[in-house]
Amino acid sequence: MHVRMGIGYDLHRLAVERTLMLGGVKIPSERGLVGHSDADAVLHALCDAILGAAGQPDIGELFRDDDPRWEGADSRTFVQEALRRTRAAGYKVGNADIVIHAEQPRLGPHKQHIREAIAGLLDVSPEQVGIKATGNEGLGEIGRGEAIACWASVVLVPLQ
Ligand code: MG
Repeated sequence: MHVRMGIGYDLHRLAVERTLMLGGVKIPSERGLVGHSDADAVLHALCDAILGAAGQPDIGELFRDDDPRWEGADSRTFVQEALRRTRAAGYKVGNADIVIHAEQPRLGPHKQHIREAIAGLLDVSPEQVGIKATGNEGLGEIGRGEAIACWASVVLVPLQ
């Protein structure tokens, strides 16, 4: 079977007076990610993985961070556009696997909720979405709780 794979990565800084969105889920936290859109690093990494697999331009090219249309945008919009382009190219998501790199807050209690939210967004079953959360042993900007990063990989399979 002809399949295509893609990888995506993103990192955003944490700051007070921001809402923490990860995978389209609002996570209780004193700080949230900073960015032009809702700064959902998980959906940004996922979006880039989908776009890469589909042979499309990256998220920064399609949704420029100086474009007022995307100020405060719900990042699910970006994933939906990536999926539209994927379908137009004759593919759908086979599975996605995601590593969220965060020291704070601890994401263990939220992983299942994030998994289900992403499965719904991708129109696949939760079994087709892997979510891992890992810390950084207190090291670096992630270990100090100053940023959250995310890696995502996606496999696309033909629609028919
Ligand atoms: Mg981003």
